[in-house]
Amino acid sequence: MSDVEPLRYHSTHSAGPTVPISRAIAAGLAPDGGLYVPEALPSIDPAVFDPHGSLADTATTLLAPFFAGDPLADELATICAEAFTFDAPLRTLPAHPNTLMLELFHGPTSAFKDFGARFLAACLRRLPRHDARPLTILVATSGDTGAAVAAAFHHQPNVRVVILYPDGLVSPRQAHQLGCFGDNISALRVAGRFDDCQRMVKTVLNDATLQTQLPLSSANSISLGRLLPQMSYYAHAALSWWREHGTPLNFIVPTGNLGNALACLWVRELGLPIGSVRLACNANATLRDYFSGAVYTPREAVATLANAMDVGAPSNFERLRWTFPDENRLRHLLHADSVADATIRQTIATHAHEHGEVLCPHTATAMHRLDRLRDEGDSSPWAVIATAHPAKFESVVEPLIGRSLPVPPALATMLARPACAEPLSANDTALRTWLSSH
Ligand SMILES: *Cc1c(COP(=O)(O)O)cnc(C)c1O
Repeated sequence: MSDVEPLRYHSTHSAGPTVPISRAIAAGLAPDGGLYVPEALPSIDPAVFDPHGSLADTATTLLAPFFAGDPLADELATICAEAFTFDAPLRTLPAHPNTLMLELFHGPTSAFKDFGARFLAACLRRLPRHDARPLTILVATSGDTGAAVAAAFHHQPNVRVVILYPDGLVSPRQAHQLGCFGDNISALRVAGRFDDCQRMVKTVLNDATLQTQLPLSSANSISLGRLLPQMSYYAHAALSWWREHGTPLNFIVPTGNLGNALACLWVRELGLPIGSVRLACNANATLRDYFSGAVYTPREAVATLANAMDVGAPSNFERLRWTFPDENRLRHLLHADSVADATIRQTIATHAHEHGEVLCPHTATAMHRLDRLRDEGDSSPWAVIATAHPAKFESVVEPLIGRSLPVPPALATMLARPACAEPLSANDTALRTWLSSH
């Protein structure tokens, strides 16, 4: 790896100073409040990947240029092996020979956030800390991130995780999962929306005075330690499709904060065989409006059935703009749709009755988009990204399909544990006070 130029990272707000990847991962957010991005995206020849490699092998090859020259580079293969302990199967659905589903919900908390959270935890465990005090990791979650991060850091010495989630706006099973860990994990139910939680975390992380009293880090999708590993399953799926069919694979990505979709777009920029990418949003239409030509206007989030996508101000939009600085080109490259709750319900019911395929509400937004494309006569290969297991959203899904769903074993274990979360008002002072007194 010594023959590879080290890749350095800077904030989306300025081209300097630059830092190595381990510094960017340890910090989460750049000191000026921007998001870390690489100086330039590397290019990778699809031929360098081992055709018989596992997902962890694909991840190691894919991420090597991003870690080149960094102290973590020598451990990258071990980190990937530790993070990618479950598969991301690409399944052809009976509905159409070119309709595929990339299932990202086979991890410990039954949503795709497990990939990023486990990779981030595996990196942070290996980074030297120059502070003997415990590290506090703050996570704002609209439902799934918190549990994935908690699971990844549970029982880890000298680390505590503080989760903020919007009270009453996550599913009952999600709330149980968030509160069931105990030990080094605290769950705070905030009297507000996800955007409030995210703003509180951002403000507190930027508070230099508090940082000197209490070492703080983040684990939101703004962390490169979560974003980069999410590229792996797109690369793995697209390469396997391309080896078999010789064509690029198109993706439809259920989208909220844009972390998952951006990972897909970055893989395409690296030179791997990915065709069109479509964003499927819920009723939060910030991205749909932008891609139909309106000025980018972040707004308050509205609550929907696909609650992990209830985002009115997608945090990775800054990285999207950095990746495609030419706005006209960006609007040509990408499409975004907004799918209403009634359509989500209808899509879940139709696919269960007609094809026996049970979708979570997030996955249903993407499936609805594909249904429309097929109606319009599109027969090209599309992979719908299945971001969560439907059993996590049983209160939405089960009444629509008229039967109860089997619960994956890891989720069942969590649901069997007692759970508790503390209430918190939706302001920065409340969070500062809580942190200083616990
Ligand atoms: C987080 C999440 C999303 C949205 O992903 P982003 O990276 O925030 O765009 C979609 N579906 C599920 C189930 C999620 O947990």
